[in-house]
Amino acid sequence: MFKLSKRVQALPPYLFLEIDKAKRQARAEGRDIIDLGIGDPDQPTPKFIIDALAQAALDPANHRYALDQGMPVLRASIADWYKKRFNVKLDPGTEILPLIGSKEGIAHFPLAFLNPGDIALIPDPCYPPYKGGTIFAGGKPYLMPLKQEYGFLPDLKSIPRSARAKAKIIYVNYPNNPTGACASDEFYAQLIEFAAKNKLIIVSDVAYSEMAYDGYKPRSLLEFPGASGVTIEFHSLSKTYNMTGWRVGWACGNPELVSGLAKVKSNIDSGIFSALQLAGVAALNAGPGHIQEMCALYQQRRDILVDGLNRLGWKVEKPKATFYLWIKLPPKFEAISFAAHLLMNANIVVTPGVGFGPNGKGYIRMALTVSGERMKEALERIKKVS
Ligand SMILES: *Cc1c(COP(=O)(O)O)cnc(C)c1O
Repeated sequence: MFKLSKRVQALPPYLFLEIDKAKRQARAEGRDIIDLGIGDPDQPTPKFIIDALAQAALDPANHRYALDQGMPVLRASIADWYKKRFNVKLDPGTEILPLIGSKEGIAHFPLAFLNPGDIALIPDPCYPPYKGGTIFAGGKPYLMPLKQEYGFLPDLKSIPRSARAKAKIIYVNYPNNPTGACASDEFYAQLIEFAAKNKLIIVSDVAYSEMAYDGYKPRSLLEFPGASGVTIEFHSLSKTYNMTGWRVGWACGNPELVSGLAKVKSNIDSGIFSALQLAGVAALNAGPGHIQEMCALYQQRRDILVDGLNRLGWKVEKPKATFYLWIKLPPKFEAISFAAHLLMNANIVVTPGVGFGPNGKGYIRMALTVSGERMKEALERIKKVS
């Protein structure tokens, strides 16, 4: 009876629907599912953050509409955190905008800077809101393939002149979901030059900057010379502090880009619940203890799963960051049917790579979001069915 708008009809199909359905059904049948499919920390939010929320929630001053540009104390904490972590100086008044989770800001940002028909350069495979936000703004995604032989970095030279001429935005996300790849300093330097030359806005998504192993420290794009003129960077408490359900993130960087996003948002939402903002302050001010523990845990799990799969004859590399393994299947397996096979016959959920875009074809993604014991169980089951 009602016809969906053209922009909603233009969204890419949600390929995880079938898997979600099969997973729900398997659970309803009481089967013991090991879910390596979701990029959501399994560990609880640290208690000191919950305590800060509980205390702030009791204060009636926090019950009213929040300022939609975020509390000054939260913006100041974000500025301190960026200074300490990346040695990047941000003006809390003009260069930081708290968000109801970074996804919200990523999806709304193109509304501020894309006109219908403008192109956004989007990595493929990618985190889906880059495409969704572009399409909602009437923009056209131009997909930049992320290939293993280029370390899953886009090959900027190969982007045709016609696409560059109409492009307004380029998205980058390192450490990367879903590939686990990291950006080199040379790539970031080239990217900034490419953006300046082609008058592009760089959207840098660093949601995984704190989730890294073997001593590797991911960098903010804003650390690089020239970046602040062209870059808006998105970050979030979600992955760093096991706070995906809380919805606290932020955008930072170039003040014109930040204020453009703020203008859109002031017409859509009315800020983050103040008690959550104060809990965010507690998280950001806490020092690196929790982060070190978190990385040690994921690193141990990464080693169990990667070493185990390689003992089964798979060829899996250890990612330096993120909690994802991006695994190329041998040609004899088709990724979607292999994922279905694992679910049906081993009660294991993995994500077919093509769900993140056409260049994810032939890959599956596994997330390190179950315990080492469950991983060992998963390895036993995989051995039996492959
Ligand atoms: C999880 C994730 C985020 C964080 O999203 P929030 O909305 O802040 O929870 C952002 N970017 C990528 C690539 C992610 O995987």
